[in-house]
Amino acid sequence: MSAVIMDGKALAAKIKDHVREQVEKMERKPGLAVVLVGENPASKVYVNGKKKDCSQCGIYSEEYVLPGETTQEELLDLIGVLNQREDIDGLLVQFPLPGHLDGKAVELAIRPDKDVDCVHPANMGYLMMGEETLWPCTPAGVMRLLAEYEIEPRGKRCVVVGRSNIVGKPQAMLMLWGDATVTVCHTKTPDLAAECRQADILVSAAGHTGLITGDMIKPGAVVVDVAVNRNAEGKLCGDVVFEEAVDKVSYITPVPGGVGPVTRAMLMENTLRAARRHGK
Ligand code: NAP
Repeated sequence: MSAVIMDGKALAAKIKDHVREQVEKMERKPGLAVVLVGENPASKVYVNGKKKDCSQCGIYSEEYVLPGETTQEELLDLIGVLNQREDIDGLLVQFPLPGHLDGKAVELAIRPDKDVDCVHPANMGYLMMGEETLWPCTPAGVMRLLAEYEIEPRGKRCVVVGRSNIVGKPQAMLMLWGDATVTVCHTKTPDLAAECRQADILVSAAGHTGLITGDMIKPGAVVVDVAVNRNAEGKLCGDVVFEEAVDKVSYITPVPGGVGPVTRAMLMENTLRAARRHGK
């Protein structure tokens, strides 16, 4: 079987083009603020990527790179100011935060209508209830990739590997709202291989190189690899052993070039959506 390699870069370009077209018609431009605390090189790369995406889409952006010793109060004060600003529609605090900061308090402080990465419990709750909200960018990007390739979750068996608040759990919810029958796996799942072999759609977000081998995949399945890991040679890779999977599956995402670029594009779309809700 020759698998279709799902092209996240092409889809991301399409989504961003659409956002730019919409933004060009707006009198007041959407605005996004990204806050980074401390010297995390990977986070810096992400923040720079977001800045570039904003400029491509015509979205106004501000980046705050705060020193690692920033206090909880200082961070919450900044969030409070950004919450009040009318020119800022979306607000994202880059995780992980330095250990002395309380991530939960930070998530709670972001105004839900500006919460473009869906970290506030209110938005997570709306997501769970199937109500209109700002969907978290990565799981939303996975759903968009499936839609782009006309892959219908309805009636399918979907297995999600990972149960984090930012990827695994919301992914399972979105699949459920897409009428899939969903299983969520994690480190205490006794027989991960057996669960994965049931999947018509397998979404892996464990962050564990080589976790999903070819024998764990049902022939003809759709495989979405969310993970961004580094292998022993320092190269970017996902959870899935791509070379083993690619001859067995119908569709598969590469790493890099699969879910990652679409996630970034979804942030632009969420910022546009937030701005529309703010009457722009
Ligand atoms: P996380 O918070 O570390 O969660 C990982 C989840 O995977 C946990 O629920 C963990 O189970 C489960 N897991 C880990 N190893 C496992 C194993 N051997 N067997 C079964 N389950 C296992 O990570 P995350 O933030 O969700 O991110 C997951 C991956 O996606 C990372 O590689 C990250 O870099 C990537 N990511 C990519 C994007 C993108 O845009 N492409 C966006 C976000 C994240 P327990 O709950 O039992 O510990």
